[in-house]
Amino acid sequence: MTIDIVTIFPRMVEAGLAEGVVGRACAAGRIDVVVHNLRDFTTDKHHVVDDVPFGGGPGMVMKPKPFFAALAAIRARRGTPDAVVLLSPAGERFTQAHARRFVEKAHLVLLCGRYEGIDERVREALATDEVSIGDYVLSGGEIPALAVVDAVARLVPGVIGDEQSVEADSFTRGLLDYPHYTRPAEFEGRRVPDVLLSGHHEEIRRWRRDTALKRTADRRPELLHDAALDADERALLRAWDVPGVHAERQNKGSK
Ligand code: SAM
Repeated sequence: MTIDIVTIFPRMVEAGLAEGVVGRACAAGRIDVVVHNLRDFTTDKHHVVDDVPFGGGPGMVMKPKPFFAALAAIRARRGTPDAVVLLSPAGERFTQAHARRFVEKAHLVLLCGRYEGIDERVREALATDEVSIGDYVLSGGEIPALAVVDAVARLVPGVIGDEQSVEADSFTRGLLDYPHYTRPAEFEGRRVPDVLLSGHHEEIRRWRRDTALKRTADRRPELLHDAALDADERALLRAWDVPGVHAERQNKGSK
């Protein structure tokens, strides 16, 4: 898949793309991420990308024209993108479901704002999606864009060496992940749960399932409404008497 990112801070984005899983995915050609400097799409001498807000008020607003020009250049090179994602605190909350949807696209464009945000006409005319990475305000869309690229890249086949680790990740089945331990078996008086040292694969599988379910019920019970639960898991939830989880809703997505 190809991801075009439009930003006024290309080096910031490139630095984030260079390391770890995303860096390896790019180096191996599993994803192709192209970072565009928005200022390259201005026509004035000083490459100005912002202007004062109509109606007054503090701060500056990003002008529409450079974004329209950037999108035109991307379209001319690669055709119409499958999705144009505007990063914005006012967008839909970005979730694993968005990552799963975006990884199906062959060509994504991510638009990063700065200042007070981007002229609304960019959202109206160019964006197919508007996503927020959480209910807080960052100074720019670059970190949110990197978060989206990372979450999507992990789902590209072959990017994560051990496919099972993506399978077990938090949210893959709509549940939080189970706790992880590595050597030593005892550290500063804290022992790894015996079951993980037992070598009993079925008991380990059950322990992991139960702890993932318990954690989700304790910390994020609202996730259980849409989780893909099997009959055993629904029985466990009933036994634990998880408040606020309606029995019928627990059936949703079950095998
Ligand atoms: N005035 C805007 C508001 O209150 O919603 C905040 C603009 S913010 C300082 C500048 C840019 O950072 C935004 O245009 C957006 O691209 C990005 N941004 C900030 N927080 C974000 C978040 N939680 N999710 C996605 N993008 C965010």
